[in-house]
Amino acid sequence: MLGKELTRRSHGRCELCEGREEPRLYELDPFPDEPSPDRTLMACARCRRWMDDEEIVVMEAHFLSGAVWNELPAVRLAAGRMLLSAEDPEDPWILDAIEAVDIDPRTRELRIADASMESEAWR
Ligand SMILES: [Zn+2]
Repeated sequence: MLGKELTRRSHGRCELCEGREEPRLYELDPFPDEPSPDRTLMACARCRRWMDDEEIVVMEAHFLSGAVWNELPAVRLAAGRMLLSAEDPEDPWILDAIEAVDIDPRTRELRIADASMESEAWR
């Protein structure tokens, strides 16, 4: 089911870089009991490799500054984690992109998601 939904959502392209090289489902840890479209994205061979290795090629990774504005939380989260794994975090565009996506380097989760959960608790 999720596979069909994501194939439709992604138009068969990598949701991070729009690449067409073997796009496949990629689930972001920690994995929920039920696979969720908010924790899963379509990623090409290169992006899957970068996420698995937790290492990206900074020169080829400028598409991430666009991906951090994606409307899908799974894409923003994946992009944020890839940026955190960048070898040289002193690179100014990487710092800007990390700030834009607002990921917590400690938990490797988006802060926006935490904030909305907190405001729920206040009601
Ligand atoms: Zn890609």
